[in-house]
Amino acid sequence: MTVYLAIDADRARTIAEDLLVESPREAGGFYALAAIRRGQRMRLLLGERFEVESHWDRQDVDLLTPNGQSISAAVSCSNSAGTGLAFVHTHPFDDRPPSLSAIDRRTAARLGRAFSDLIDGPFAALVVAPGGWGGAFVTAQGDLREIERIALVGRKLSVQAGRRQGRSRGIAFDDRQRRALGEASSAQLRSMHVTIVGVGGTGSPAAEILARMGVGRLTLIDPDIVEHSNVPRIFGAAASDVLQSRAKVDVVGDSVRRLGLGVDVLSVRGDIRDVVLQEHLLSADVVVGATDNHSSRAVMTELAVKAGLTFIDMGVRVGVRRNGDLDSLLLERRIQVPGGPCLWCWGRLDPSRIAEELLPADRKERLMAEGYVTGSAEAPEPSVTALTASAGAIASSGLLALLAGALAHQPLAVQIDTLSGLGARISGEDPDPDCICRKWKSTWFEPAGYKVGA
Ligand SMILES: [Zn+2]
Ligand SMILES: [Zn+2]
Repeated sequence: MTVYLAIDADRARTIAEDLLVESPREAGGFYALAAIRRGQRMRLLLGERFEVESHWDRQDVDLLTPNGQSISAAVSCSNSAGTGLAFVHTHPFDDRPPSLSAIDRRTAARLGRAFSDLIDGPFAALVVAPGGWGGAFVTAQGDLREIERIALVGRKLSVQAGRRQGRSRGIAFDDRQRRALGEASSAQLRSMHVTIVGVGGTGSPAAEILARMGVGRLTLIDPDIVEHSNVPRIFGAAASDVLQSRAKVDVVGDSVRRLGLGVDVLSVRGDIRDVVLQEHLLSADVVVGATDNHSSRAVMTELAVKAGLTFIDMGVRVGVRRNGDLDSLLLERRIQVPGGPCLWCWGRLDPSRIAEELLPADRKERLMAEGYVTGSAEAPEPSVTALTASAGAIASSGLLALLAGALAHQPLAVQIDTLSGLGARISGEDPDPDCICRKWKSTWFEPAGYKVGA
């Protein structure tokens, strides 16, 4: 099993400041922890601190062991909050991302076994240092699973790969791009893993542009094969791919690999509404949504809230006047960050359309014949390559906005008419308090219960 951890960037900074103040001695505390699992991947979310008075059996420069009293207080906090538990402690002298020491590992294994009967949720032992974060998920048997990647999320995104991962491969950065982004963002870009859901008109140029910008890893997900009608919009596709009935993910994946830029590309043919494929969302630092249906978006927006994922969703729409003249080529970019609005908050999902999309095929045919559903969810929307390619580019620059921290003072969701070139913000910088997303249990808002595998 591969384990990932997401921490709200502001919370991560506060925790580090709170705990490292006791430097040179180690310090620690107990925090709410949630976990969501799909297949062989688990994503942990670190929540609020439990106000437990800290008492230590040992507190020294290289050793910290919580005593029985503080452990039982932490257990009762996690039980009343209905969450799992994380023990976070410091390594005040580690200038690199830290890892658990041999003593830490023994303590964590012991706590993990003890907690398995006492708490109804995951347990993790985490360590924070001036050089970053590290740690492990601890199973009920006391086995440690090292955390592979740690994402500090919010309106600015940064990712820290675990110590086990070497420096990513790839050619040297484009010097002109490095001048634009700076060293730190360039290095972050190279270590990024982006999952693109839907590699049609918007997703395929996004894949190519992200690869050309130097993103280290791409996962492409799409169920469809290339058809004549979409060859003009799919970057990397040719008419011959239609004759061979090739899958879009294979065509786009091969085209990105041919660039020879050292990008690690995984092509996954399938539908994101299939729960089996959702592990590819949990492993991503950023998910780009480039599908044309509402039910896939609904799946992604919900999982993004529950798993603390950063989700860039793209939409396109061609506007035509009543007399048939082209009026607008609208694209929308909605960047859903943990703690921010979801697609439901922004009013971008239509429940009746989702219901229609999810009808079994035979039932839909019958209802269409009887006139109960229109079948409009299936009808091909008008589309123009200038629009979809722009959407791919704007999705890609969304990643730069996240890495550069530009969203601290820019809107999360925007609409651009690529015909006129005019843009506007979509209002909503905070979640709608009445939105369903506030009920999806998550440690981002409060340490309310969220269980492994839920
Ligand atoms: Zn330690
Ligand atoms: Zn919402």
